[in-house]
Amino acid sequence: MAFKSAYLQGVYETVEKRNPNEPEFLQAVREVLESFEPVIEKKPEIIETGVIDRIVEPERFIQFRVSWVDDNGKVQVNRGFRVQFNSAIGPYKGGLRFHPTVNASVIKFLGFEQIFKNSLTGLPMGGGKGGSDFDPKGKSDGEIMRFCQSFMTELSKHIGADTDVPAGDIGVGAREIGFMFGQYKRLRNEFVGVLTGKGLTYGGSLVRTEATGYGLLYFTNEMIKCMKNETFEGKTVVISGSGNVAIYATQKAQQLGAKVVALSDSSGYIYDKNGIQLDVVKQIKEVERARISEYAKRVPGSEYHEGCRGIWSIKCDIALPCATQNELNGEEAQMLVDNGVMAVAEGANMPSTPEAVEVFLKNGIMFGPAKAANAGGVATSGLEMAQNSARYSWTAEEVDAKLHNIMINIFHSAYNASEEFGQKGNLVMGANVAGFMKVADAMKWQGVAY
Ligand code: NDP
Repeated sequence: MAFKSAYLQGVYETVEKRNPNEPEFLQAVREVLESFEPVIEKKPEIIETGVIDRIVEPERFIQFRVSWVDDNGKVQVNRGFRVQFNSAIGPYKGGLRFHPTVNASVIKFLGFEQIFKNSLTGLPMGGGKGGSDFDPKGKSDGEIMRFCQSFMTELSKHIGADTDVPAGDIGVGAREIGFMFGQYKRLRNEFVGVLTGKGLTYGGSLVRTEATGYGLLYFTNEMIKCMKNETFEGKTVVISGSGNVAIYATQKAQQLGAKVVALSDSSGYIYDKNGIQLDVVKQIKEVERARISEYAKRVPGSEYHEGCRGIWSIKCDIALPCATQNELNGEEAQMLVDNGVMAVAEGANMPSTPEAVEVFLKNGIMFGPAKAANAGGVATSGLEMAQNSARYSWTAEEVDAKLHNIMINIFHSAYNASEEFGQKGNLVMGANVAGFMKVADAMKWQGVAY
């Protein structure tokens, strides 16, 4: 579909030409540029600053070889990436993803989204992202360590506590962050906050582990309260995934009085009409690193279904996709709507396809886009950076209160922008524009070199 604005059409065509065969990146850019249509109408002077032409091109894109030796003594080679997308409002900040599907397109889509998300938090963080096509599944701790050390040996040349501060993402949790932090310290002889998501004994922040899931619930709670005067009390909730985000989203949903009835992994989903027993899930996923199908073997009355997409056929009031990009398509969105879903909020990055988002918005479903709804993780990473700089730690209550406050502010920034630019309640547009305005202003004042 063509853009209404010829200028935006031109920007998109340039991005398309420069980045062929990068569908995820193009999908993310298109969605953001579509949100800028009302901005261009209301503030056409923004065109002259060249900010939009510049923001779609990364400041730096680094790709490197990661070679390591497996437990059989065999040399393995993976590909590492870091995109330093935009540093207008602070050091680059964004996670590292280790998953076989990682490629330039995925890293660029995530890095691009991160610019707006980080801006929305109100903290001084630019946008970046990185990772590798390395698959941690089935690897021994020794293999994970050797991979992480090799990965950091190269990455350390490009990052720093005031330059670029990576964090975890899919496949990168406390174990991997620990190995990478140790290697950075060995190479540089510096104990600095160069990574977030660290262990509590060496500079990590309380509540960072829970932050994305908790933040998602704080955001969604504010959204349903302000837009429809609703609460989570007694609501049926479906959550996809069963990793870090899904687990802590489930925990907070339960604390708010909701019944979470389903979770999934890339093989299938579980349904428990009595409400998911989270201690069982944590044992399976966090301790044993096993498959979610185990749950049905251990909890009587629960069911396991092969294939992860069927999860969207379960009737619920609120759906929280927390697994991966494009996990919820237009047909599945329609199924949720037909089954009476009231709100959808994205814990994962870009889990809903453009067709799914259209179905939700057309049907008046309250929809919290990832950039806004899952910003709690990076916000708490920002709080970890602040604690590291001050060489001080806040209590769990202090961090949680700050996180809660940030998520409430993010909802209102997105909601207010949607109203100001004439699409009240469209938080996709509102989040993109609210995140963009601050970065655009900073870029304008800093001149055109970046
Ligand atoms: P994890 O690696 O901890 O967990 C990912 C989970 O999603 C696993 O259970 C995985 O199952 C499952 N999964 C993967 N693909 C599918 C699929 N197609 N359908 C169903 N389940 C699937 O990652 P996180 O929880 O950290 O991240 C999840 C999402 O949240 C990602 O999009 C990430 O970018 C985003 N996010 C994460 C943040 C964080 O702080 N961790 C911050 C902001 C966003 P399996 O074991 O089978 O692979």
